[in-house]
Amino acid sequence: MSLLVLGTTALDSIKTPHAENPRLLGGSASHAAVAASFFTTPHLIGAVGDDFPRKYINLYRKHGLNLDGLQQLSGQTFHWSGEYEQNMNNRRTLDTVLGVIENFSPTLTAAQTRLPYVLLANCAPDLQANVLDQMRRPKFVVADTMDLWLNIARAPLLKLLPRLDCLVLNDSEAAQLAEEDNPIAALPRIHKLGPKYVIVKKGEHGAILSGPRGLFVAPAYPLKKVVDPTGAGDSFIGGLMGHLTSQKGSIEKNLRSALIHGTITASYCCEAFGLKKTTKIKKADITKRVRELSKMVKW
Ligand code: AMP
Repeated sequence: MSLLVLGTTALDSIKTPHAENPRLLGGSASHAAVAASFFTTPHLIGAVGDDFPRKYINLYRKHGLNLDGLQQLSGQTFHWSGEYEQNMNNRRTLDTVLGVIENFSPTLTAAQTRLPYVLLANCAPDLQANVLDQMRRPKFVVADTMDLWLNIARAPLLKLLPRLDCLVLNDSEAAQLAEEDNPIAALPRIHKLGPKYVIVKKGEHGAILSGPRGLFVAPAYPLKKVVDPTGAGDSFIGGLMGHLTSQKGSIEKNLRSALIHGTITASYCCEAFGLKKTTKIKKADITKRVRELSKMVKW
């Protein structure tokens, strides 16, 4: 069983109250696919420009990513720059340059269209729909999105929602989508828009899964120090889908455990800039924190 991951493969320039790092490896698909690689083989679908450093391609390779769907196009790589406030839950996008992703229209190979698990990481809803159109009877489709797409592409996003098994978004995006401030009250409204499962991320306060079995509340792993939370949401969904892909049995049975594995993978992402920590850990590190977290929530 393998996983298809669509999203941005980016260069990120990140500023926190303590440091500044230009042109790091980033992007929703980079974070998600590397996170998923601890559990399965992610097939990356994305596009980079001719300014994308070779060392980052080597890093993808080192993590066992299947790169048949990664195109190198003439032009600039997607570039995002953002700045965090003292309270790192608050972040401002300074600039987004779409570059080669703007006109990216992938044609999947026959093998890619048959992958059973599909992760549509954060990118334009039209691009997410384009890839989903090509998939043959996937077993489980999850998508992530962000405020930018809710603002500029609400109609295509609403069209995509009934085609998803699961939608993942943060609490403010859930409020914006459902036009309801309380994320718990927003959940039934989001289900009505299509997805059977909805996961609301609440940053350092964890995540809530809503589905046919009701709610499941997962705390975040308590970290002493957050260096850079960029990509935590993508690592969360990547770890979650990677783990789900690697398990036997029903989605319903495995989803809660997958969510905890996503939570833990995301915790490592926050401990250094960009992908610097996530690309240094081993699966055993994830397993260790999963055990620690489960002890913390038992009573
Ligand atoms: P997160 O912190 O989980 O929201 O993810 C941040 C990552 O998303 C960064 O690595 C960015 O390159 C990427 N990103 C930022 N804006 C967008 C966008 N509009 N579409 C897709 N990816 C984005």
